[in-house]
This record gives sequence, structure tokens and C-alpha cells, in this order.
Amino acid sequence: MKRYHVTTFGCQMNEHDSERMKGMLESIGYAEAPDPDAADLILFNTCSIREAADSKFLAHLGHAKRRKRERPDVVIGVGGCWAQSVKDEVFQKFPFVDVAFGPGQVHKLAEFLTSESLTAQGYFEFEGFAGDLPEKRAREFQGWVQISVGCNMKCSYCIVPSTRGRDVARPLQTLVADVERMASEGVTEVTLLGQNVNAYGRDLHRRGFTPATFAQLLEAIDAIDGIERIRYTSPHPQDMKEDVARAHAELSALCEHVHLPLQSGSSRLLKAMRRTYTRERYLDRVALLREHVPDVALTTDIIVGFPGETDEDFEQTLSLCEEVAYDGAFTFVYSPRRDTEAADFPDQVPHEVKVERMDRLVETIQRNAHERAQRFVGRTLEVLVEGPSRKDPTRLRGRSRHNKVVNFVGLAQPGDYVHVEIERATSQTLTGEESLLARATGGAAALAR
Ligand code: SAM
Ligand code: SF4
Repeated sequence: MKRYHVTTFGCQMNEHDSERMKGMLESIGYAEAPDPDAADLILFNTCSIREAADSKFLAHLGHAKRRKRERPDVVIGVGGCWAQSVKDEVFQKFPFVDVAFGPGQVHKLAEFLTSESLTAQGYFEFEGFAGDLPEKRAREFQGWVQISVGCNMKCSYCIVPSTRGRDVARPLQTLVADVERMASEGVTEVTLLGQNVNAYGRDLHRRGFTPATFAQLLEAIDAIDGIERIRYTSPHPQDMKEDVARAHAELSALCEHVHLPLQSGSSRLLKAMRRTYTRERYLDRVALLREHVPDVALTTDIIVGFPGETDEDFEQTLSLCEEVAYDGAFTFVYSPRRDTEAADFPDQVPHEVKVERMDRLVETIQRNAHERAQRFVGRTLEVLVEGPSRKDPTRLRGRSRHNKVVNFVGLAQPGDYVHVEIERATSQTLTGEESLLARATGGAAALAR
């Protein structure tokens, strides 16, 4: 039996594409190898969002090249956003690569592997979503659902629209059928994926499908038996409307967590980024969410050192972070990307200024997240158990509905929902003990979401 190994870089969308690559490879008779050296097919699912992602991948590719020299029959494949951004150039630069494909072309990999000729081949069309691929889930109780491909926004720093194409929604009925199938296979938590999830459905009518909004999709998935938790990433602040905020209050499976990418707290910079909202509009969206779900956990993405960012702009980002008091954030140093508008902007910020601002931003985020997390101490939270704790295997690790990692002492199994009494909180994790009272009474006694 032939064996494959997939190395994944980047976001959850890529993680999900890799699950589909693995499922598809197993359906054509391949088995997973524990490391690339034991594989007949070495695959990379690449990311190109920042320069660091490119460099990390290129180091891995060097290893694959040496492997191919030792064993010329090994097949080397490169998929994902980096492959899409360089297209056929990949074969000129790295002649040992056998097959390359963009993010929408996962299914072409099977076509390539099962065809007679193995001359190098590239697949870079945007075809929408390649459906009906089996996925091999990392945990059988958690599933990803890609609700749309691509992005219609034009954020001036971002390479995604050129690597993933226009926003194309998958029809609501298809998504519901997918989640029903997943629920029947034991999935209880789903994460809906898209680049701008709350713009979902705008193209459905034009393409001849029943129109649907993101809030309607959430409602339809909430109604599916067996689905206990719904998460999604990422919404765009421009499209965060009252119906979605209300859904958070009304739908029992929809978690009390929203990841709402900010990018900058300065309206001037937001305009240069083409983010289509101002600082005030963003704060209105936060107020709307907190009005409907006062305890909602908010996380975000922030870029420091965007071209032209002044001290004053940066201070505005810090002050917004103090005002919102996020539960957590992904912080990124701006990285110029090929074929993006901002890469040619004047006033690129010097590296040492970026680093200094990043330190201050991380301090602000962590201090606020630490303070926010104290609200959980003394509460009993519902936790979905994921496995043993990474640092201390005698403890268990799971996630609360607010998407906080919870390490705790308990008897549960991966996939169980348990109630944990929270004793301590840091900016990143909560620590506690499984509520045995709740276990004895089947959970009814101690639930406080
Ligand atoms: N569509 C999502 C959104 O708008 O939030 C996710 C886009 S991207 C995969 C995730 C994050 O990467 C963005 O929110 C942004 O903060 C960051 N990012 C994108 N391009 C970047 C760049 N050129 N330099 C630094 N960070 C970048
Ligand atoms: Fe990139 Fe902006 Fe689209 Fe997000 S919304 S994927 S940042 S263009």
C-alpha cells in the first residue's frame, strides 16, 4: 500500500483542505505515513499570508528535495495558497515538484495520481468548491464546514482574493445535508469556515439557488439533532448585523464567542487598508454584540506596522484594545505581499518600529485578556473534552463555549461535555476541576454557561 504525508501551513481553511486531501487519498488506497521520510507521496498544503509562511514552507521543501534525490519515485506535491500565487513558476524554481494545485483544486490531486502519466502537472483554475470529498477528521467529534470559497473584499494588504478567487457560497441545503451527515458520524461541534462568513449567500439567488442569509444558515444548523456547538470564522465587521447578534442570544448551539477582525484602531489607516468601516462603526458592532450577549468573548486580528502607520495611529489601536478589552487576539507584523496594493505604498514602517509596537500591543492584549478571564473564576463552565493537557498529561484539556482552553482534573473522555468548576484564569487558559456533582446528576445541577 502506498503511503502519504501531508504538512499543513496556515489557517483553519488549510487545515480543513488537508483533511479533505487525506480523506480523498485514503479513498484511492493510500495510508497515512507518520513522517515524510516514510512516505511515497510528500504533500505540502501551503500558506502565503505573510512572508514568514513562505520561508517556513521553503525550508521543508528543501528536505523533500533531498528525499527525492535518494528515492526518485517519491511524488512531491504542493497545494494551497502559495502554489496558487506562483502557479507554474513552481516547476521552474523547483523542478523536483511533480504536482502543484491551488486551494480549490484538491480533487485534481486524485486525478493526477490515478492517471497513467506522471509528468509534472499544475492545476490553478478557480472552480468554486470541490464538494463530495471525504474528510479525515483530526477528532471525530469536531468538524469544519466550508460555507463559501474566496473573498470579494479588497483589503489592500491581503493576498487571499488572488489565491482563493471570488466569494462563492455553497447552497444552504447542501450545507445542512453535510452537517446532518457529520452529526450522524458523531460530530457535535461544527466550525463554519469562510473568508467573510457573514456575507454568506449574497450570490445564491443569482446562481439559481434558494436565497439565504448567514443568520438563516446558523438557524438551520442549530436545528440539526446532535449539534451541540456552532462556531464560525471569520466575520467581517462591515457585515456584522443585528440578525447575527440576535442569533447568538437565541440559538442554543451558537457559542458565546465572536472573532471580529479589527486590523487597526485608526480610521485613517482602516481606509488605507480598504476595510470599509471606521473605528466608530467597529465599536458600534462590539456594542451590538454585547447588548445581545453581555458575556460574549471577543477576539480579533490586528496588524501592526501597516505602511504609513504613525505613532498616533498606533496609539488609537492601543486605546481601542483598552476600550474593547478583548479575550484574546492574533497579532501580525505587516508583511508586504506580491500583487497587493499596499506592497507598493510609500512609508513602509521600519522593522524596529514594528517590533517595538508589537511588544506594546501584545502587553495590552494580554493584560486585558487576563483581567477579562477572571470573570470565569468561581463559575462552572461546560467544557468539550479534547484530550490530555499538553503540559500535564494527568490532567484533561478542553474548550469552553467562550473558546477558552480549560485544563482540569477529571474522569471524562475526549468528546464528552463536562462541567468544570473554574479555579484560576490566565490570559490564555482556565484551570479547574470537573464538577462531580454535575456528573452525578447528569449535568443538570451545575450548568452556568
Ligand atoms: N478573511 C479573514 C479576515 O478578514 O479576517 C481572514 C484573513 S487572513 C487568513 C487572517 C489575518 O491575517 C487577517 O485578518 C490579517 O490580520 C492577517 N494578514 C493578512 N494579510 C496580512 C499581511 N500582508 N501582513 C500581515 N498580516 C496579514
Ligand atoms: Fe483578506 Fe480582507 Fe478578504 Fe479577509 S476580508 S480574506 S483580510 S481581503
